[in-house]
Amino acid sequence: MNSAVSARLVNGPFGDPGLYIRLPWQGRAVVCDLGHNDALSMTDMLRLSHVFVSHCHMDHFIGFDRLLRVFLSQHRTLRLFGPPGLLACVAGKLQGYTWNLVDGYGFGLEVTEVGRQTMQRARFEAATGFRPQPLASLPFTGTLVEEAGFCVRTVHLDHRIDCLAFALEEETHLNVDTAILAELGLGPGPWLSELKRVVRAERPDDFRIRAEWRQDGRQHERTFALGELRERLVKHTPGHKIAYVVDTLYSADNAARIAGLAHRADVLFCESPFLHADHEQATRRYHLTARQAGLLGRAAQAKKLVVFHFSPRYSGQAEVLYREARETFKARQGGVDDRAPSAPSAVLNPSPATV
Ligand SMILES: [Zn+2]
Ligand SMILES: [Zn+2]
Repeated sequence: MNSAVSARLVNGPFGDPGLYIRLPWQGRAVVCDLGHNDALSMTDMLRLSHVFVSHCHMDHFIGFDRLLRVFLSQHRTLRLFGPPGLLACVAGKLQGYTWNLVDGYGFGLEVTEVGRQTMQRARFEAATGFRPQPLASLPFTGTLVEEAGFCVRTVHLDHRIDCLAFALEEETHLNVDTAILAELGLGPGPWLSELKRVVRAERPDDFRIRAEWRQDGRQHERTFALGELRERLVKHTPGHKIAYVVDTLYSADNAARIAGLAHRADVLFCESPFLHADHEQATRRYHLTARQAGLLGRAAQAKKLVVFHFSPRYSGQAEVLYREARETFKARQGGVDDRAPSAPSAVLNPSPATV
């Protein structure tokens, strides 16, 4: 099973922000932010099941129209999450078009507006001209998606409006050691899936497991206490974690939230529009400097930091922004360890923005 997620920026560091994350074992993908997204192919777009919008400033939301156009003829539901105000922004976009010939279409958008206490939800269906249909609201717990294989969590950041940061975490992989299986005199069968399920559910050691398998044309069966098998037979491999942070003020509260969300992320994608020499301008604009991005990566103990969303004022000076972020981020490693991060680089798609 190819289990590693792969994440890549939709555009270059001076382009609109966006992060495309593939979940190869599920044949699908999610995206953070909807800036200009012409760089995503139709195939890339059609793999999307969830869209996470940090906030609705134009550079993060102008790509909504292309997404809509690509999905319109699909008989599917696309799930969209974003900060307070998202429902009105989606409704406004949808009201900008005429929908008199889409009655037979099966496309629907399920939109969740993530407040600090409550998540308001609505469904917009092509067949009804995208008239909003309210859905039951849910309490905000910090987790937006929890499915077999991965979860997505969020925190609210201060960008003079609420702006969401996201972290996608793959589930820990459980693998059965076939050598140990043979050593125990057991054979493979569907019971191993059940074993993994109860290990994941953290059932107690005295929980009984029935192993059934066919070998040499005969059916075999044995019963064990879970505690006898758990440690020896099942290997745990941590899943990948990807964090995405854009458009935020460098404040103590924001920094604490980011450090918690991105804690030990394999890759932290973090905005750094300004150089620290212009930090007053960055603060006025509720944005980060490259140096601050480096400090945040270090505080989160991220294994790798990718900075992006550079201000056009530094056009041609990308390397200066990378260097500034690298200098504070690398201080964690005593300023001497310049090796590639431990995660396989082919999987994590290093871009020129890598520091
Ligand atoms: Zn913004
Ligand atoms: Zn922005």
